[in-house]
Amino acid sequence: MAAQQFASDNYAGICPEAWDAMAAANSASAPAYGDDEWTQRAADAFRRLFDTRCEIFFAFNGTAANSLALAALCQSYHSVICSASSHVETDECGAPEFFSNGSKLLVAQTADGKLTPEAIRALATSRSDIHFPKPRVVTITQPTETGQVYTIGEIRAISATCRELGLKLHMDGARFAHACATLQCAPADLSWRAGVDVLCFGGTKNGMAAGEAIVFFDTALATDFDYRCKQAGQLASKMRFLAAPWIGLFESGAWLRNAEHANGCATRLAAAIEGLPGVSLAFPVQANAVFLQAPESLLEALSTRGWRFYTFIGGCARFMFAWDARVDTVDLLAQHIAELAARSEKRGNRPLPAFAEARAESGVPG
Ligand SMILES: *Cc1c(COP(=O)(O)O)cnc(C)c1O
Repeated sequence: MAAQQFASDNYAGICPEAWDAMAAANSASAPAYGDDEWTQRAADAFRRLFDTRCEIFFAFNGTAANSLALAALCQSYHSVICSASSHVETDECGAPEFFSNGSKLLVAQTADGKLTPEAIRALATSRSDIHFPKPRVVTITQPTETGQVYTIGEIRAISATCRELGLKLHMDGARFAHACATLQCAPADLSWRAGVDVLCFGGTKNGMAAGEAIVFFDTALATDFDYRCKQAGQLASKMRFLAAPWIGLFESGAWLRNAEHANGCATRLAAAIEGLPGVSLAFPVQANAVFLQAPESLLEALSTRGWRFYTFIGGCARFMFAWDARVDTVDLLAQHIAELAARSEKRGNRPLPAFAEARAESGVPG
């Protein structure tokens, strides 16, 4: 059994920079419910990183952040356009609908989980009568659940379509740092300068113990959001422990380093398995995820060797890397896949059907 597993980037622990910031915030007592210097400093660190005056709120997890952000943008009779494979649709147990008192999610079937202006327009204009929930918001996941990154140009094109159709643009950035690392661009360029109104920035998958930040670039949309958080059980009384890790991540640069390391491990595994007989990548590797398409017998053998992975998307094996991924363990995984692929080829096993033909199984979050 390998010492480290890559089934989810949430398997990782807390990175030293986040841990040290927690310890620093633990050195004395401080005012509760966000009236403390750590929360103030963390919010300021966001404003510096994004180079703009935005409103920041801290929630315990991504489901709450996404759901409350969408609820803030919608009335109950509104609808939210999202991809069929989006986390809000498949992995949040109906929380967006629950917290918005019934706003409906309108799903677009797209090849790679990315929304396009065309798909948005088709859904937003399909009906305009009183019987259909009025489209109000578009939500995109950056990077997508299968690890594809929207370019700045793609986000700009989407936001232009949103503005034209009177829609707000929300970004689920559970791995926003990983997208910044891939594109090597400023966070501002990938968010408000590209037309994003609200961003949920993931801290957990970036090395924190827990915590996501809801960043309102359109500050008018943040009105009363503090009440919404409190009502939903998302106002931490000892807020400084949700806030301080962000200071550690941003001031040390670990937020980007962690993501670069995670992405690098995915690229490394992808490069090592490319060209092996009978296996392939189900999706282009653009962030910290690798989806391995392989014969069922190979995946079973990999599992027997002790490797853990999810197969909820099209039956392929998902590997996700975090800040703590050990390169030698990534190489060991690659070596095992190579050995099993060679053995499988000798036995004349045929690979599974391509992703498009495979049936997506029920989802597992994270
Ligand atoms: C992990 C993840 C979230 C947040 O999930 P929680 O378990 O609620 O923290 C949100 N969106 C995406 C795309 C994710 O991968």
